[in-house]
Order: sequence, then structure tokens, then C-alpha cells
Amino acid sequence: MYMNRRIGHLDADCFYVSCERVRHGCLRGQAVGVLSNQGACVIAKSYEMKARGVTTGMPIWEALPLCPEAIFIKRDFEWYEVLSRRIREIAERFSPAVEYYSIDEMFFDARGMDFAAARNLQQCILDETGVPVSVGVSLSKILAKLASSSGKPFGCTMATEPEDIKKLLRDRPVEKITGIARRSAKKLLGYGIRTCEEFVRADRRLIRRLLTKRGEDLWWELSGTAVLPIQTTRAAHKNLSRGGSLGIATSDPDRLTGWVARNAERLVEALDHHQVDCGVLAMALQFKDGGASSWRSSLPIATADFSLLHEAGLKLLAQCWPPGIVVSYMHLIAEELSVRAFAQRGLFDAPDPRQRAIAEVKRRINERVGRFTLRSGATLPLADLYADETCSYDICDIYGKTCF
Ligand SMILES: [Mg+2]
Repeated sequence: MYMNRRIGHLDADCFYVSCERVRHGCLRGQAVGVLSNQGACVIAKSYEMKARGVTTGMPIWEALPLCPEAIFIKRDFEWYEVLSRRIREIAERFSPAVEYYSIDEMFFDARGMDFAAARNLQQCILDETGVPVSVGVSLSKILAKLASSSGKPFGCTMATEPEDIKKLLRDRPVEKITGIARRSAKKLLGYGIRTCEEFVRADRRLIRRLLTKRGEDLWWELSGTAVLPIQTTRAAHKNLSRGGSLGIATSDPDRLTGWVARNAERLVEALDHHQVDCGVLAMALQFKDGGASSWRSSLPIATADFSLLHEAGLKLLAQCWPPGIVVSYMHLIAEELSVRAFAQRGLFDAPDPRQRAIAEVKRRINERVGRFTLRSGATLPLADLYADETCSYDICDIYGKTCF
């Protein structure tokens, strides 16, 4: 029954930890935590560590007392990306259409796939990459994702018959559905909708009124009608962002302007990589006391020029940051992207030719000698950061958890 419209989801089990275990076998069976770039927060943990109460995002000084024998490792996205691509290649042998949803999650067309075939896929991934994954097969993407998460770790869950699906939805809080944030869950609670089962039983029009079309799509998906297609090609970027945790939170104006320069240089790399210019630059700051601030400004021309972006970034910092306030996160976001080949550039608004020449020299030297070898002098207050080589790599496209 329904063999022709099955959709699968695979999700690596504690992916970053599993990747580290592939190359460091001695980590198997140990409590392992993978740390953020600046080494302050646990961004992934093994099940052994989870059992001790360590949560994702917890600072290392809180995690250590809970789990003193733990082994902590700095993250290495380049390695995780290698294994991620291998997993995708294996999935593509089993399925005519694979959607690369995030570095450790993929949806796939599972038509004709039964339990034995799904197990076989899972086993091949383990044998060939060393990474354990959980697999779910159901009638829609959202159901498949619920199925895979219900069987973690190393589960293989088929939820293709009405009884299986009922079981999957029963007692599962609506917040477990991707796309239903806390605010939406609160709205639903006002109508007595707490579980996925109550969600599909609710009137579809009510869901649409409360959560717009996106909510209605989820209603169809959970009811077993696939409305979200498997996307094998990635949509063009709406925006590109660079930044993140500052590691050591700071209110030092020199360090903050250093971060603006660093993030602007990384943003230029990303814009060059995608061959786009940006028309609007935005900045988002998070403060240590829990507050946040963001601002955006239109650029005089669509550009990927460092000097223009850097200058705009400094103005945004002045608007976003009340002096003295301690900043813990900074993002620079390029918006209103335009493909370079189609850009119409006026004769007089091209960037200063000297700046363009500097940018070109910088790009060539860094390409040959190494990333950030030649960089803006405005990054000098962050010399410690550039001396730490674990800060020098960058996955090409992580935005939230979605990449590539
Ligand atoms: Mg995962």
C-alpha cells in the first residue's frame, strides 16, 4: 500500500561526535563533546554525555562538573563535510532523488523501499563511512522526519500504514514538528492543540488562520498527503551571512571593529564564491545580558567590495551597539543579492579602482599562500584569533543548520 509515494529521511546520530569517532576510534563508548569554534560551548554531544545532563549550547564550564571524565574536541566542519558528502553519495545509490537538507540530514524519494531496503541503506552508510544514521520512511517529509527521530539512535522506522502513523503522532508534542516554533505552539495551545494527533484532527482552516499557509502545509503533511516536494537542487540564496559567537564576549570598541572587518572579509569571500553582489547590508548583535539589536542599510550600489562593506559595517555597529554593552554574537548579513553577470553598473558608481586593485591583490595572495594571510589592518585587535589555526577554516555555507 502507498508504495509509490514513500518518502524517506535520514539523520546521522550525534553527527559531529560520530565523525570524530570515525578518525579517533578511541572515542567510541566515551563521553565526547564537540566544542564551538572558540571552544566555549558544547555544540554536539555523545549519548553518554547527554545521559549526564549536558545539553547542546551549554558552556564547557557547566558541562565539565556534570561529566568530569568527558573528552572535548574542537569542531572541524571540513571533516564533517567530507563524511556528509559520502553519505549523500550512498543515499543517491538507493534513491532517484535526494535532498541535501542539512549537513547531517537528507530526505529521499523512497518509492518501492521496504523495511529491508531501508535497513540495507542504513547498514551501507555505517559500513562505508562509519557514521550511524537513523532512517524513517513514511508518506511525507514531515512524517518521515518524525519517524526517523522516533527511532534514534540507529533506528529504522517504517510508518506507512495508518496505524503506524497514528502511533507516531500520538502524545508527540507539536513543537517536535519542524516549522512549529514556540510562538506557534502557544497559539495552538489556546485551542487545546498540544500533540501532533490533535493537530491533524483540528480543522484545516483553523490551522491556516493561526499559522498561515506554512501551517496548512504541515497539516497536509502530517495527515499523510505530501505537499512539500523533495528538492534536489538548492534554491538560490536570498541572503548570505557571516559571523557568530565572539568566543570571548567583549565591549572593547577595538575588538568589535576588528570583528566587523573579519566578518566583512568572510562575507566578501562568500559573495565572490556565489558570484553575487549585495544591495543591503544588515548587522545583528546579541548582548551578554540577553538583549539584541539589529539594523540594516542600503548600499549606494550593489557590491561585494570590501571597503564599501566594511565602511557600511562600521556605521551599522555605531547604530546597533550602545557603547559599554558587552557583545557576545555578531552577524553581518548581505541581502538583496544580485547575480553579477546581470549587474548594470553605472560609469561613476563603480568602486574606487585603487580599492579594486587592492582587493584583487589580496584575493590572489590569499588564494596562493593561505586564507587571511593578507587581511585588513582593522583586524589587528583580533591577532589572537588569527594565531589560532582552528579558527581559519570555514564551511562554505552553513546558515542555521542548513548548508550547501
Ligand atoms: Mg542528526
